[in-house]
Amino acid sequence: MNCEKITEFREKQNLTKAKLAKQLGVTGATLSKWERGESAPGVDALWQMAKIFNVSLDEFFENEEAKKKSAPTGMKSLRDLYKVGSGPSSSHTIGPENACKFFIGKNPDADNYKVILYGSLAKTGVGHRTDYVIEKTFAHRKVEIIFNETEENIPHANTMDMFAYKNGEQTDFARVMSVGGGSIKVEGMDYVEPEDVYTHTTFTEIKEYCINKKIDLWEYVLEVEGPDIAEFLLEMWQIMKDCIRSGLDAEGILPGGLNVQRKAKYLSLQRHVDETAETRENRMVCSYAFAVSEENACGNTIVVAPTCGASGVVPAVLYYQQRKRGFTDYEIAAALGVGGLIGNLVKTNASISGAECGCQAEIGTACAMAAAMLGRLFNLSIEQTEYASEIAIEHHLGLTCDPVCGLVQIPCIERNAVAAMRAINAVNLANFLSDTRMISLDSVIETMKQTGHAISREYRETSEGGLAKVVEL
Ligand code: SF4
Repeated sequence: MNCEKITEFREKQNLTKAKLAKQLGVTGATLSKWERGESAPGVDALWQMAKIFNVSLDEFFENEEAKKKSAPTGMKSLRDLYKVGSGPSSSHTIGPENACKFFIGKNPDADNYKVILYGSLAKTGVGHRTDYVIEKTFAHRKVEIIFNETEENIPHANTMDMFAYKNGEQTDFARVMSVGGGSIKVEGMDYVEPEDVYTHTTFTEIKEYCINKKIDLWEYVLEVEGPDIAEFLLEMWQIMKDCIRSGLDAEGILPGGLNVQRKAKYLSLQRHVDETAETRENRMVCSYAFAVSEENACGNTIVVAPTCGASGVVPAVLYYQQRKRGFTDYEIAAALGVGGLIGNLVKTNASISGAECGCQAEIGTACAMAAAMLGRLFNLSIEQTEYASEIAIEHHLGLTCDPVCGLVQIPCIERNAVAAMRAINAVNLANFLSDTRMISLDSVIETMKQTGHAISREYRETSEGGLAKVVEL
């Protein structure tokens, strides 16, 4: 962690060392050691400080890499945006899933394995289905899972230790950190950041480039990423469709203890004799969004677009349009490329993390991506596509993250459905009104970042505010 952050945040709050130490229940000497980097606070102390300073936990770990993020010099490939994994949370399920795959790959012949979860993985792992995904990934192999909620001396809030055994002897060990977005760091191994492939980092730059070269946004994606990107996006689309179909087939109660009933199938079958086309569209799009979000809540396979919690928006609008208008899979892949570009811009210039900027960053971004995809499918101009995405984000500004009991179910599932409908609305408005627009996509992304940082910590994926606090279930 970045120890200077403790001093910086303490001074911003006008707190003396003695006062802060008292609030934390530690000695002044301990706090001084933390601030000098001679020792590190445990997870509980970090949580307490985050609360006192009103910042996210991640902000303690902000380092030079994170600073670079505020002045981006490039953007990563769309392969780094769309990821396949088990829901419901990229840090609690996809990260651990990748850690298990890494460790099994290293020790394919072990007799048995042990995984110890620490920090947030230990405290909220059951609700987030971390144990379920570990067992699923180890499949037929013998694995013991231990939740260690008390160990404080860990390098990251999402840390896991992994052991392999052969003939009763320990043969390997790895300490792995799930550092967000499904990415992992293995202690002792260099973490290689994926390279930037886009040199442009704003929509304005991309738009100018495309207009000068007389190419559209999909041609731009192909030019930068290479023709293979179409293959990758087709694969993502196939998984999205499979996920919708499984979600529409399933019934029953979602795991986690909230007793939330699956509703996708029910919604898709509620045909009324005199149903209007608009009502049907609403019902079907929502049923697809529910289908994916419910699969995500169950820990099943989804495509992160751009996060697990918001993974229902994009497939819902695309599936509806493909069924209604017969778009080919390639046309849908091209739309995923254009929408991915928007997700990439938000990820690069603001955030797609609910823990960093609230739900506007997850659902708002997914809505903007879906709006741009519809722009592509309906042959909208670059200006109109920009406007559609801008509308989609603008009207999610300030949306907080407050999942009840920390489960990605209430309000997340409905929120996916509402955002899918809002994307359709945004593209319709943009189609008619783009000549009158006054706000650029880049400005609204910057506004989202500033708004996100101003949102109190309770409303940024801590389940300590909003619905998560008020609603008792
Ligand atoms: S409320 Fe939070 S967890 Fe749920 S979708 Fe929004 S950002 Fe994700």
